[in-house]
Amino acid sequence: SRLRIKSDTVASSINDDESIIALPPQLKDARVVRRSIDARRRRGAPPKYSYVIDVTLSKEVASLQLKLSHQPGRMERLAIQNDGINTTTKEGILLPNTNHGIESNTKQKIIIVGAGPAGLFCALSLASSGLFTPIVLERGKPVEARGKSIGALIHRRSIDPESNFSFGEGGAGTWSDGKLTTRIGRNSGPVRFVLETLVKYGAPNKILVEGSPHLGTDNLVRLLRNMRADLRSMGGEIHFGTRVNKFHIEGGTITGVDAICTPSQERSNPICLDVDDEEMTKSFRGDAVVLATGHSARDVYYELHKSGVELEAKGFAVGFRVEHPQCLINEIQYGKDWGDRVVTKRSSTDAANTEHFSKDATDSERHSGVLPVAAYRLATNEANDGNSTRGVYSFCQCPGGQIVPSSTEEGELCINGMSFSNRDSLWANSALVVTVSPDDAILDSYRLLHGSLAGLEFQRDMERKAYELGGGGMRAPVQRLTDFVNRKRSETIPTSSYRLGVTSADCHDIYPEPLYNALAHALVYRFEKNMPGFLCDEALLHGVETRTSSPVRVLRDGGTLQAIGVDNLFPSGEGAGFAGGIVSAAVDGLLVANAIMTKFVPLHSNT
Ligand code: FAD
Repeated sequence: SRLRIKSDTVASSINDDESIIALPPQLKDARVVRRSIDARRRRGAPPKYSYVIDVTLSKEVASLQLKLSHQPGRMERLAIQNDGINTTTKEGILLPNTNHGIESNTKQKIIIVGAGPAGLFCALSLASSGLFTPIVLERGKPVEARGKSIGALIHRRSIDPESNFSFGEGGAGTWSDGKLTTRIGRNSGPVRFVLETLVKYGAPNKILVEGSPHLGTDNLVRLLRNMRADLRSMGGEIHFGTRVNKFHIEGGTITGVDAICTPSQERSNPICLDVDDEEMTKSFRGDAVVLATGHSARDVYYELHKSGVELEAKGFAVGFRVEHPQCLINEIQYGKDWGDRVVTKRSSTDAANTEHFSKDATDSERHSGVLPVAAYRLATNEANDGNSTRGVYSFCQCPGGQIVPSSTEEGELCINGMSFSNRDSLWANSALVVTVSPDDAILDSYRLLHGSLAGLEFQRDMERKAYELGGGGMRAPVQRLTDFVNRKRSETIPTSSYRLGVTSADCHDIYPEPLYNALAHALVYRFEKNMPGFLCDEALLHGVETRTSSPVRVLRDGGTLQAIGVDNLFPSGEGAGFAGGIVSAAVDGLLVANAIMTKFVPLHSNT
């Protein structure tokens, strides 16, 4: 019998991975299930780690009422766990890599548009069932070649519209912070499955345990390569440089897609075997089409609209990315004494890359890691916009990270945040965004012209403004946070992690007045109170963060997960409006794979 217990312990008394919690002798085989840091400092108390630990009990002990030790931290009994792993989660999802007991010689072809988390997890799930041949079509390049496009973007400021921070193998999350937190239930079957799959392909084991798991770009690139190889070994196909530009819908059923296949610069790379030498249009026919194109593929929304697929406007959020020195966030979150003990690097370009403690650290502190770089989350639903209230919140916070351009077209600038697995840069950045509802008055003129795609065009306009204010060449317009709330251009600006350069600009003029008002109100009256020191001169606002979520949803049936009115079209992931991050997009991909199996497997059983 297994028992789950919770224990709090002072951060410095715990090793990085190993628990040294003294357990009562009746408890054996302690396994840390989750570890999270609790930085709330009550009456100056130091930060603590909270552990959830599974332990094994002997039969006799399990039947007794256990009195758990209170040393060294508080321990609390959570639940008795059952052993045994089901292949179907309580949500009813059939998990991949399980033998469903069905063999098939006539595999059905499923076309999957987009190789982001939604598309890839859907493809892996279908391929591993042994019943389907997933054919993944991806407009961008494989990760190896995509890295070069990103290098060119940073160094030569030339954006490849098909291969950038948003498009290419792995989707938008590849050059990202790789945060694996999700609001859809940390311990639900599908979320656990996604995390375990990532570990199977090379992610570190600790993501299964950490309360706020994080991968970092370096890990993501490696595991995507492994995923691709596994998918191909199971009979799946991936075609890179293949941009879907037409949907074949006949009599209310989708039968396939057309795609523009671009010539590859990477012909010598054996990984890119599927890329054609010359640009040409290819048709792909299949039994079903999964649409997993993410929310940056604006051309796809227009094509869907043209093809009569039902779309609806949904709420979204826009704003800026704010950047603070990481040491300042450490101090705000952990307190002066503890903020100094965070392992960090002297500078991002420090040749020796030596670990640095600004206070004298003992050897044991050095080896135990003491505290991770501090993170934060801020939110209010009551930011006054002049007429009513709006939600303002921090989003996708990247401790020890850097700000990057996530634009997909020349002349438009939007930014986002990424980090490497050791989160060791000098900066902490986060989106700071304000909500826009689908019937928002600020969208009235856009709605007249663009209907359900109003939000999309609004985002695009804000990105064009930001590009111009930055002075071109993907330089970002910036303003000190204190000057932003005072509507004043910054005379001097602190250094920034954004490598394409920054220009001091009137960022307070970018968005319509109600959005500016709400952001400034939240900063002054909420966030500075929640995190004293947050609204400071060293904090630099970068413009603009417009793509936190899709402003459009592709309507789909809640039961079959097919697009309303189009049989065999399965919208999935963030672009379709059903996810908001790496993990939730991957889970939605699994859900869609499950819906496809439900629809098509009975046919297989009959043949
Ligand atoms: P996407 O990942 O956007 O994938 C869609 C794929 O479809 C892309 O590869 C694209 O090239 C392809 N595609 C588009 N149009 C076509 C077409 N016409 N034909 C063929 N292929 C097409 N989320 C987190 O949870 N944690 C983070 O730390 C995090 N950091 C981020 C950092 C950055 C810089 C960015 C840009 C995003 C970040 N996100 C993060 C968000 C996360 O990446 C997305 O929520 C997630 O990737 C959505 O997955 P998806 O599969 O729905 O779509």
